[in-house]
Amino acid sequence: MDHQPFESWLTSDEPLLPEDEQKLHEHIESCESCRQLSYAWVEVQDMFREPQLALPSPGFAQRWQARLVEVQLRESERQQKLLSWAFFASMAGAALVLLGFMSIQFFSSVQAPIRLFIGGLTLIAGLLNLATAMQVAFIPFLNVIVVSVPTYWWLILVIAACLLTLVLAFSARRILYPRRVSQ
Ligand SMILES: [Zn+2]
Repeated sequence: MDHQPFESWLTSDEPLLPEDEQKLHEHIESCESCRQLSYAWVEVQDMFREPQLALPSPGFAQRWQARLVEVQLRESERQQKLLSWAFFASMAGAALVLLGFMSIQFFSSVQAPIRLFIGGLTLIAGLLNLATAMQVAFIPFLNVIVVSVPTYWWLILVIAACLLTLVLAFSARRILYPRRVSQ
């Protein structure tokens, strides 16, 4: 079968004359090859036309909305993440500031016993100085006592001195290691 001029007509962009159109239709009805070409040509033309037309495919609006919703969701998720990070950062900052204040408090309260300790040492040094002064002042007096006072009096004096030392030591202990309850 001769497929010309039908193949040329099929692939031509030129509009056909009414009688030629009629002839083409009749040929396509009877010719399998030209019918196939006709279908293929229509498909090819559709293929080339589609991007230019950019007609929304079925369900385009729904898909677009779904995509929009997805984008919005992702955006809000991102903002939530950002917010939670900001929250975390501010909490961490607050905790750091609090820790700073607490450590300042802690070190100042630790410093207090050290100052107390130094104060206690000063007091003891003062007492020792006083004792030395008393020793210097009372040695002649003590010498007299040693000579004139009976032995049992010495025993009492030694016991009293021991008790006094104990009391002093206890007092010093209380000064140096004060109970922490008051703080
Ligand atoms: Zn044909």
